[in-house]
Amino acid sequence: MQKIMKNFDAYAFSKQPGYHESTVRKEFAKAVPLRTVVIYCYDPRAVDIPAAVARQFREIYPGKIINDAQGAKVASTTTLFEIVVAGGRAVDALRSITVAQHLFGIKNIVVVHHTHCGATSFTADGIIAACKHEHHSDISDLYQRESICISDYVSSLKHDVQLVRKSKGTPKHVNIYGCVYDINTDELSLVVEDKSLLPALAGGSRMALALRYRGRRGARPTRRGSLQMAPGPAHRGRGGR
Ligand SMILES: [Zn+2]
Repeated sequence: MQKIMKNFDAYAFSKQPGYHESTVRKEFAKAVPLRTVVIYCYDPRAVDIPAAVARQFREIYPGKIINDAQGAKVASTTTLFEIVVAGGRAVDALRSITVAQHLFGIKNIVVVHHTHCGATSFTADGIIAACKHEHHSDISDLYQRESICISDYVSSLKHDVQLVRKSKGTPKHVNIYGCVYDINTDELSLVVEDKSLLPALAGGSRMALALRYRGRRGARPTRRGSLQMAPGPAHRGRGGR
């Protein structure tokens, strides 16, 4: 790839003339009607997890990109965001949760661990020893041991739901769910449920909790969110997501 240097400031919201942070934030909130964040594994076989979660939570996924009059991509109809990390472990998702709430607002966080996951194939001791031997690097204090691999699914999901709940960057109103996804059948099973700490808002959950869900392939949008980022000088010709 050829190295190209140009002034990328033209593509940064914060570098636009008249930039006003809280105004831009309000426009972002209108651009995507986000409700649910799903954290899952980067294993290519796990690619259907967001669609399975979207069906269960009646979310719109992947939705449609909205273009403005100039053809710039300025909004989306999706109500579900993906955070794709090794093993679907929540430790890697905490900052993204904070940002998703800040820009768009969220109601549900769904942590999904899947069957036959590579994260069940090694141990914390094993990867720490290998890293020391192969890369001469001591990572024993780098991550919480309980977040490194998956030794059993109930423990890993309970740990991750608690980790998300205890994070200062997680808004208190969210419902948090931990699910196992069967990689071969698309079945999604609820294992842990931690409802909103603010009871009045707990009704925001869209999960039908009579659960064991047998998924079908292919996303099927079930309702439409409000869209369209409000046009403003900071957004003209820029991507708004
Ligand atoms: Zn995996």
